[in-house]
Parts: sequence; C-alpha cells; structure tokens
Amino acid sequence: MDIANRNKVFIDRDYLHSLLERKAPEQNEINNILNKSLELKGLNLEEVAALLCVEDKNQIQQIMNAAHKVKDEIYGKRLVLFAPIYTGNVCCNNCTYCSFRKDNHLIKRKILTMEEIEQETSALLKQGHKRVLLICGENNKNGTEYMCEAIRRTYGVRENNGRDYIRRINVELAPMEVEDFAMLHKEKIGTYVCFQETYDSELYKRFHPAGTPKADYAYRLTVMDRAQEGGINDVGIGALFGLGDYKFEVLGLMQHAKHLEDCYGCGPHTVSIPRLEPAIGAPDAEHVPQPVSDDDFKKLVAIIRIALPYTGMILSTRENSAMRNELINFGISQISAGSRTNPGAYAEEDGTGSQFELGDHREMEDVINSFIDAGYIPSFCTGCYRKGRVGEDFMDLAKPGLIKQYCLPNAIFTFQEYLNDFAHEDTKQRGMKLIKQMLEEYDQKQLIPKIESNLNEINKGQRDLYF
Ligand code: SAM
Ligand code: SF4
Repeated sequence: MDIANRNKVFIDRDYLHSLLERKAPEQNEINNILNKSLELKGLNLEEVAALLCVEDKNQIQQIMNAAHKVKDEIYGKRLVLFAPIYTGNVCCNNCTYCSFRKDNHLIKRKILTMEEIEQETSALLKQGHKRVLLICGENNKNGTEYMCEAIRRTYGVRENNGRDYIRRINVELAPMEVEDFAMLHKEKIGTYVCFQETYDSELYKRFHPAGTPKADYAYRLTVMDRAQEGGINDVGIGALFGLGDYKFEVLGLMQHAKHLEDCYGCGPHTVSIPRLEPAIGAPDAEHVPQPVSDDDFKKLVAIIRIALPYTGMILSTRENSAMRNELINFGISQISAGSRTNPGAYAEEDGTGSQFELGDHREMEDVINSFIDAGYIPSFCTGCYRKGRVGEDFMDLAKPGLIKQYCLPNAIFTFQEYLNDFAHEDTKQRGMKLIKQMLEEYDQKQLIPKIESNLNEINKGQRDLYF
C-alpha cells in the first residue's frame, strides 16, 4: 500500500485538464474500452477521459448499453433505499450555492434537540425506513459530541412493539479530525460521506469564501484519509455537478477513488452525483455556473458505473422521478425516498428552511411502486455492514461476484418485511408477484430452500433475518 501518499493532495489539476484536450475517440478505441469494461475490472483515467469526450449519440448509447450490462451483472435487479435526517440547518460556512450559508437571512434556522431527532426517526420508521443518513450544516453546536449522541438516540428508537428500528446510520458531515472519526466509529456508523463539491482547486476558491472552515480545499480533499485513520473503512465521495466542467469532476472522482485504493487497499464504498438545484438565498444555485444537461448527466452516470463497477452509486431526491427511474438502469444502486431537507420536517412541517428544492416529492410507497413497475426489488438491507463485510473485505467479496449471493436474498427479506408491515394491499400483491418472479430467475438455486424458509419465518412475524 502507498503509505507515503496518505494525507497528500492527490489531484493533478493540470494533467486532468490536459486529458480533456484530446479529440473524440475513434470507434475502434471506444470498442476496446467498452470491451475492457465488460470484464468488470474498471477503467483507468485516460480511458475515462476518452469516453467523456464522446459526443456522438449512437456512441453514447453504446456506453449506456455497457453500463446497463455491468450494473445488471454486479447488482442484479435491486435498489437500496434510505432517507436523510437533517439535524440542523445552522452553518458557519458561506458556500455560494447552498441555502444554509450563514449570510442567508431568508430561511428559518434550527438545530434539532435529541427528542426531535427521535421524533424524526419514529416518523421514518413508520414509513418503513431502516437506513438513514444524518446530515447537517457545520456548526460548533452540532459538533462531534452532539452527533454521537444523535446517533445513539437514532439507533435507540423503537416502533411497532420493538420490532422496527434503524439498522444502519450513515453520516454526511463537514470534515473533521482523526479523533472525531474514532468517536463516530465507536458509535457504529456505516459510511462517512463528504462531497468535494469541485475537484478544481481554483474554482473551489470562488464558491467557498475565504475565512470559513470550508475554504480549505486540501483539508476537505484529505478528509477520507483521516476517516480511514480513525477506523472508518466505508467512505462515500461525491462532486456537486453544475459548479465546474462535469468532465473534469468525473476525472477528479476517479483520481480520488484511485488514491483510496492505492493508500488503503479499497476504493470508495459509494459515489454520489448531486446536481445543483435551485436554493433560496444562494446566488450560484439560482444561476448555475456550468449546468449539466440531462443527456450529459446520463452519460456521466454510465461512465462512472463502468469505471468503478463495484462502487455503490447514490442518487437523491434532487432529481425528478423520470430521471431516477431511468438512471437505475445505467448505474444507480442506492436512492433516497420520501426525503425532506429541512430539519424536523418528517414529524411536523414547521417551515424551517430547506437546503434546496426537491425534484421528487413522492411519498415512499409511491417510489416503491414505481420500482416494482420497473422490475426492481427495493432493498432495506444492512447485512454486509452488520456482518463486518465492509471496506476491503466487502470489495474482496464483491469482486468475484459473490456479493450477489447475499444481496438479492437480503433485499428480498427486507422487501417482504416492508410488504407485510407497511404496504397497502395492492402494493403487497404486486410486490409478492415480483419476489416470486425474482426467485424463479435466480441462478443460485442451491440457496432457494434457505431463502424460502426465511420468507416463511418472516411471514410468521420474525424480523431482521439476513445472510
Ligand atoms: N455541511 C456539510 C458539507 O457541506 O459537507 C454536510 C452536508 S451539506 C448539508 C450536503 C451537500 O449538499 C453539500 O456537500 C453539497 O454538495 C450539497 N448541496 C448544497 N447546496 C446544494 C444545492 N443548491 N443543490 C444541490 N445540492 C446542494
Ligand atoms: Fe454549510 Fe454544507 Fe451548505 Fe456549505 S454546503 S453552506 S457547508 S451546509
């Protein structure tokens, strides 16, 4: 492992820009790259740059077709669902694109009390959620100790006579020190998530005014190194699309993934691809500096999927339902559902400021129904993390395709629980039909008796069974 490069700035800005000065690749080069991608070993920076430069519609379709095959081969027809809990919208930073920026006086501010966090958790449990993302603005009133307490209280909430509880908490928080990560690790968080926003150090200065903690590009860029040192093996990276050139940002994500792989033996657990949405009191969200068109957005999702085949890809409710339904075919493996981005909004709509406008306002059951229609099993599975299959162990398991043996059955178990406990009769019937069809098509026939026995137990009232 490359210990010498830990905690160093690893983005080579000039080289990444130079890679994008090339002309579009010939068909032959595209064929070679796509054939390599179908071996599921990922792509290097130069190959990713070549695909990013493809503009021909037919050739883009070839990239999308390859992404569809890779997605299907590794993830099958399942989709992990989660919801964010915004614990506060007070922030000491002034990011020019975010409503939570400290100089924005147009929104009502709030930091949730522990009781309010419990109420938010209860409301999500009653919708059927099992995985949450705790997220907030940066502020010393909701620093690491507050978050540790918030995590304990969220895990502690019980509904439905103790049968329903949150099984995995991920956190999306401002960069911190190794000791803070060690504290979060003790509280058993799943993934630590933080987006670089833009990997271009020059542009970064423009959006993150000097004098705020977030203005320090290098401190943010090396946050995953500190997370690893603090014991957190599953980390989630991302870029905010719309600030800079989307092609550069994709290359930045690739270089970040390679840095983690080289230094820690394991790339990121997830990549997020938020697109800039309108936000009150945030000038760069009202006038997006470098908008990414829907077609370019689909292309970049497909390229990331084939370049990092084993990395989960997250799409939030920033995107509308049509885009979300389409992108699950080309790369997205995790999706938020029924989300609100203002603190306290699940338990009580009290008008606190939200972070940005949502593109998908549907309730969770409507989202689930649309995935059933598309032939996807909604999954609330938390099995790998609770069995210790994280970080490098997860990747070792995922790479030979073994993860399929766990993921589909676990997805089916959690979906059956959802259908029994939360769904309306019509959703239940349609969901059970989909489970039946999945099992008929499942190629690991030796596991079917064990899966059916677990499903029987679930139908008798047993919960939280997983491989
Ligand atoms: N405050 C922490 C931080 O900045 O890392 C935690 C999370 S912040 C609430 C979550 C993310 O929302 C930011 O990293 C940014 O990428 C994204 N975001 C901010 N403003 C946005 C907007 N107008 N549209 C879409 N995403 C936005
Ligand atoms: Fe604060 Fe994060 Fe919003 Fe920036 S993006 S203003 S750090 S909440």
